[in-house]
Amino acid sequence: MVTCPGCDGEFEAADLEHHERGGIHHVHCPECDRHLGTYNEHSR
Ligand SMILES: [Zn+2]
Repeated sequence: MVTCPGCDGEFEAADLEHHERGGIHHVHCPECDRHLGTYNEHSR
């Protein structure tokens, strides 16, 4: 469960918006589109 600091919504990881660019995975809030984090696809 992730809590968005922008809209205080709580979301499951699968409900977040996921985008990948250049091998970096970006995660955004589905409600307010706030950026919630990035991680390297290859480091997991
Ligand atoms: Zn939000």
